[in-house]
Amino acid sequence: MEMTHKIPVGISACLTGQKVRFNGGHKQSRYCLDVLSDCFDFMPFCPEVAVGLGVPRQPIRLVGDVKAPRAVGTNDPSLDVTEGLLAHGRRVGNEMAELCGYVVIKGSPSCGYERVKIYQENNYPAPGGGRGLFVQGLMETNPVLPIEEEGRLNDPVLRENFITRVFAFYSWKQAVEADPSYHNLLEFHACNKYLLMAHSYDGYKQLGRFLAEAHEQPLEDAMAEYIRRFMAYIGQPAERKTHVNVLMHMMGYMKKALDSECKQELLESIEQYRRGEVHLVVPLTMLKHYLKRHGSEYILNQAYLDPHPHQLGLRNYI
Ligand code: SF4
Repeated sequence: MEMTHKIPVGISACLTGQKVRFNGGHKQSRYCLDVLSDCFDFMPFCPEVAVGLGVPRQPIRLVGDVKAPRAVGTNDPSLDVTEGLLAHGRRVGNEMAELCGYVVIKGSPSCGYERVKIYQENNYPAPGGGRGLFVQGLMETNPVLPIEEEGRLNDPVLRENFITRVFAFYSWKQAVEADPSYHNLLEFHACNKYLLMAHSYDGYKQLGRFLAEAHEQPLEDAMAEYIRRFMAYIGQPAERKTHVNVLMHMMGYMKKALDSECKQELLESIEQYRRGEVHLVVPLTMLKHYLKRHGSEYILNQAYLDPHPHQLGLRNYI
């Protein structure tokens, strides 16, 4: 994966260090600013400031119906910014169609992705919680956009999954959305076969079946349905055993070309990874080394081999 230019990604403005929180503070994310900004062109939005709430301001919270909560002032419930937050989310989703991902803040009534507290009349939150209203609006207009809470980027598996999804969505926009055709749709699927398989074997099979009949429907519909399903499948984090399955499949492409010593070395490395003794980067580096010599163009083009820039080192931790 070579970066030619940075990928546009939205971000809660307070994560970039902007002092836009209700108390005049920020929640600067060093990981986003120091590491991810090498690959992502972060575009900050503060929905609460956008709907006219000043800084500092009284905090807001979600209340009422868990399926359709309202965002009201914590101290003064007559302050209601529900419609403004939803509309701003929809506007950003419509006007910023180039976004390939979004990093948000956990628990915010505007920016939270899930489990945001929704208070009931007894002043206790309802079980399960809900979604911040800006994010709700954003997802209505851009339902496949990869969104993640900044705190979850501390988890190596979730971090790798989010960044994989952003790069995959970017590649979709470049390869298919910018030049729509059944051919490009099939090519995209072919390049992502093993990536899909690592995240969902069932999803990989189902999308293959879907594409076999996709030409019977209008291209626009086929593309919309494909990317909806594709992003949902790769949203399931890949597991150690599914990575092992993919590594073995890819190794199978070289079974005639590799001598028994090389085969044994590679198998041992995959086995060490399966036992949790080494990280994914170890067998993958060896596999890529052999594939460069013996792999076909098809296998070398697999997104699974380099789903994100190696300098991020994401596979050194999973
Ligand atoms: S509305 Fe979002 S961006 Fe603004 S301060 Fe709250 S969490 Fe941060």
